[in-house]
This record gives sequence, structure tokens and C-alpha cells, in this order.
Amino acid sequence: MTPLQPARGTKDLIGEELRRHRRVIETARRIAETFGFEEWATPVFEDTRVFSRTLGETSDVVTKEMYSFTDRSGESLTLRPEATAGVCRALVSNGLTQSLPQKIFYAGPMFRYERPQKGRYRQFHQIDIELIGPAHPMADADVIACGHAVLEALGVGGDVTLEINTLGDAESRAAWRGALVDYFAAHRVGLSPDSRARLERNPLRILDSKEHADQPIIAGAPAIGPYLTQAAALFYAGVKEGLARFGVPFRENPRIVRGLDYYGHTAFEFVTTTLGAQGTVMAGGRYDGLVAEMGGPPTPAVGWAAGIERLAMLLSEAPKAVAAVVVVPVSPALEEAAVQILQRLRRAGIRAEMEYAGTVRRRMERANRIGARAAVILGEEEAGRGSVQLKDLVSGAQAEVPEADLITRLA
Ligand code: ATP
Ligand code: MG
Repeated sequence: MTPLQPARGTKDLIGEELRRHRRVIETARRIAETFGFEEWATPVFEDTRVFSRTLGETSDVVTKEMYSFTDRSGESLTLRPEATAGVCRALVSNGLTQSLPQKIFYAGPMFRYERPQKGRYRQFHQIDIELIGPAHPMADADVIACGHAVLEALGVGGDVTLEINTLGDAESRAAWRGALVDYFAAHRVGLSPDSRARLERNPLRILDSKEHADQPIIAGAPAIGPYLTQAAALFYAGVKEGLARFGVPFRENPRIVRGLDYYGHTAFEFVTTTLGAQGTVMAGGRYDGLVAEMGGPPTPAVGWAAGIERLAMLLSEAPKAVAAVVVVPVSPALEEAAVQILQRLRRAGIRAEMEYAGTVRRRMERANRIGARAAVILGEEEAGRGSVQLKDLVSGAQAEVPEADLITRLA
């Protein structure tokens, strides 16, 4: 039998890759907590309607990318393609729409049937925050400031630029949509087949096309600015003022739209040029309509999601594994005492390992192989004096240390 491989578009996270991944999640969780966000976890699969109803019948995710299946009792289920819809479903299911604001941090795997390439997978992972309740533009700025702080804490702030736009309110969007349809219809022949299909169903989405052919046409498309109602323009001005207060630099980009239907007003992306075509590392916006779509009351909300794989690739330094201490008894009579020391080190929070058998030479070879930082060597004579030999495996220095001092010395 040919050896089995991971399914197309999925990958195993092992060693350095998992450490990078974990660094992203732990940093984001810590920063989000300082902004007042609390972690939630919702199921990996949901009733298909949680996504099909809310993400937009014509969105790329719903039309082409969902992993949907019928289970043994005939129910249509879908592996979640994103976190926001599930979080809003949970808000409603748990009766939390009357306990606002809710400030949620999220991390976990997402699933989309996409063409795999660098930075684009079928199982990928996101960190995510959602601020549900406030309708104030300062909320948008606060959420973006949190994203900015996460990127700074990861040390990738210098590699990314924040681009923002507004999608206006429904009235602004309807007027802009009309202008986009006129414009794109006039350039119909030059558009990619995908974008031509979007022209009828969802013209805003053309602005989000990654097709080469579409780019020059997109560059000339009308921006929403002239179509904004006074209220929408005021809201957008409030977001920009909020960002200035938080000290978050940004650039306005009138081409930014979101891939899902439930967004209005603020849309933003943190982008980089260092990851090739997959340059968006964090993206989000305001989605005041989603909770109502899920069967709850009208509820303002704003949030973002970031691809962990893309952020992990941007980390300049791979986080190191925790340094190990190995315990090495020089004779079988000392094996038992060695286990006692091993356990004392572990209880003190030190990564400590010990081979189950073998000569001192074999054990020291193994210590080198795992890159151990130090060896605690138990000898007969030292045992008599209640001490051990402590060897620094980096410098090679070795000294006798009273057992009672061992943990302080290792720390
Ligand atoms: P793209 O335009 O790259 O397809 P998107 O608009 O579909 O992205 P969102 O739904 O906004 O992406 O998801 C937020 C972030 O999640 C993206 O900016 C990206 O960093 C990451 N992401 C999305 N899809 C994938 C994927 N298939 N593989 C890896 N990361 C992904
Ligand atoms: Mg996509």
C-alpha cells in the first residue's frame, strides 16, 4: 500500500511549525484579554443554514468553498468556514442578546474548499475577535486597535499596513451598487468569467477579485465616497478619528470590500507585500445585520479574523522549544533516586527527562540529540554527600551542587 498522505490542502503541524502557530494564538489571546475580550469555543460543525443564510447565497464561500455533508440522520451539516456566524448563532442560542456588550476572542480551525497554495489551505486556522453590542464608531476603532496591538506584539507590525474603507449604510450601498453595475457592464468583455457572473448577482464582490484580467478594470471603478449618505459619512469620519486617538496609522483604500454579505460601514484589512499573492493577514469590519439574520434582535457588531498560517510565516524568529534538563544516574543502584529528582524538577515546572535504561554515554548522547540545556548527574560519592553533579551542556562547565540548591541553580 502506498503510504497515506494528509488530505489535499491540509497539513500536519509539527515542531517549529506548531510552535509558531502557538506563539500567534497565545500572543493574540493575551493581547485580546488586555482589551477586555474573553475566549469562546463553539462547535466545529454547524447546521448548514448557520452559514448559507448569513454569509450570502452568492458569496464565494457559500457557492464554492463549503464542506457540507449529510449526516446519518439526514441533517445537512457544514464544517465552519469562519467563526463569526457560529459566534452569533451561539449568542442567540445562549440567550446572550440581552447581555451586551459581549467581547469575544476566538481561535480554531476553519475549512474551505479552495485551491491550495502558499498561505491558502483547506483546513486553516484563525484568530478572531468580535465586539457585539456597541454601535459607536469608537468600537470599530477599538477593535482595529486590538488587531494592531496583536500584530505589534508578534513583531510583524512593521511588515503590514492597515487599509480601511467604508461600505456605507444600505442606502449608500444601493446607490454605489448602481454605479458599479453601470461601470462594470460597460467593461463586461474585459472581465474574467467569474466577475461577469458576479455582475448580476453581486457586483461589489468584483472589487475583491484576485483575477489578473480584472485588475485594470477594478482600478478605474467608482469609489463609494460620492454615494455616502450624510450619516454614513459621519460614521466613517468617527472611525478615522477613533483610529487617530488610538494612535493606529492607516491608509484609505476605496477598493476594499468584504467577501461576505453581512458587512456594512467599516471594512479593513492589514496587508503585507511579503507573502506573495496571499497578502491579507487580518481582515474585518462591521456587521450590524448578522445577529438578526440568525434570529436574534437587531444587534450592532464589529470584528476581525486573521489567518494564523500567514501570521506564523511572518514571524521573523521561530520560537524555541522549552530547554530540557536530563537526569543521568551513573549506576543501576541510583535509578530510583534519579526518578525522585526527576519528579522534583517537573513539579517545580522544569522540563526534565530521563532515559529508562542505558549507560552514561548513551544517556549523554541522547541529551545532545534533544538539545538539552543541562544534565543532572547522580554519582555514588555525591549521593553520599546529598549532592549531584550539574553539567551545563552549552558551556561544558560542571560542578557539584547540593541537591537542596538544584532547583534554584537550574532556574
Ligand atoms: P482571501 O481574500 O485571501 O480569500 P478572505 O476574504 O476569504 O481571504 P476572510 O474570510 O476575511 O478571508 O478570512 C480572514 C483571514 O483568514 C484572511 O485574511 C486570511 O489571513 C485567512 N484565510 C482565509 N482563507 C484562508 C485559507 N484558505 N487559508 C489560509 N488562510 C486563510
Ligand atoms: Mg477567500
